[in-house]
Amino acid sequence: MALEIRLVPLLSDNYGYLLHDAGTGETAIVDPSEAAPVLAALDAEGWKLSHILNTHHHPDHIGGNAELKAATGARIAAPKADLHRIPDVDVPLAEGDRYRVGGSEARIFAVPGHTSGHIAFWFEADQALFSGDTLFSLGCGRLFEGTPEEMWRSLGKLRALPDATRVYCGHEYTQSNARFALTIEPGNAALEARAAEIAALRAAGKPTIPTNLGVEKATNPFLRADVPAVQAALGLADRPAIETFAAIRRGKDNF
Ligand code: ZN
Ligand code: FE
Repeated sequence: MALEIRLVPLLSDNYGYLLHDAGTGETAIVDPSEAAPVLAALDAEGWKLSHILNTHHHPDHIGGNAELKAATGARIAAPKADLHRIPDVDVPLAEGDRYRVGGSEARIFAVPGHTSGHIAFWFEADQALFSGDTLFSLGCGRLFEGTPEEMWRSLGKLRALPDATRVYCGHEYTQSNARFALTIEPGNAALEARAAEIAALRAAGKPTIPTNLGVEKATNPFLRADVPAVQAALGLADRPAIETFAAIRRGKDNF
């Protein structure tokens, strides 16, 4: 039975995600910035929290851990590399590990770049990827603790997943990401179409998440640093893709 997934808006632009396995009743929250809206969403659904999943140590992804654990007894699964800076972890996770929520199993990817310990959760059978602040719709996370090379390699792991994979990321940054992406590829018809869809969703007060990997591969400049037309647009034709990736990341930092 597939996981039911509910988006929970948190803080100003964060998203947490409730995952519910109706077969077993197990429920997880991914990246709870704060506890109260998560408890309210659980209450509204009649679900009981059993797992807390963290993609990385930033406060806007773990801020609700302690209160949620105290209120529900849920166990915390988080990056092994962040044990020194995420309190009270029950299940440390690293590249290649598997983690079950009821009848669904996630494969864990180590995706350093935004932070050194960042992980992503891929529920293959559910076609759902929880990418935290590594892969955003039309963007990627800032490089606080990593190099462009690390982030490009991390995004490469995620880009290799099937096009139908739904991407659930940590923030609603999509519309400003779209504005930047259009400066890189103004002639990309798929990007223009996605930007129009995003504008309509935001005007209606709706989230732009989930996106899917097929759309991201066609539109997200950070996944397209090895596309010759993108490299040429940056004056980096015939140069290694990492130079284009680094240039796009620098451009976004200053956008
Ligand atoms: Zn972060
Ligand atoms: Fe964040």
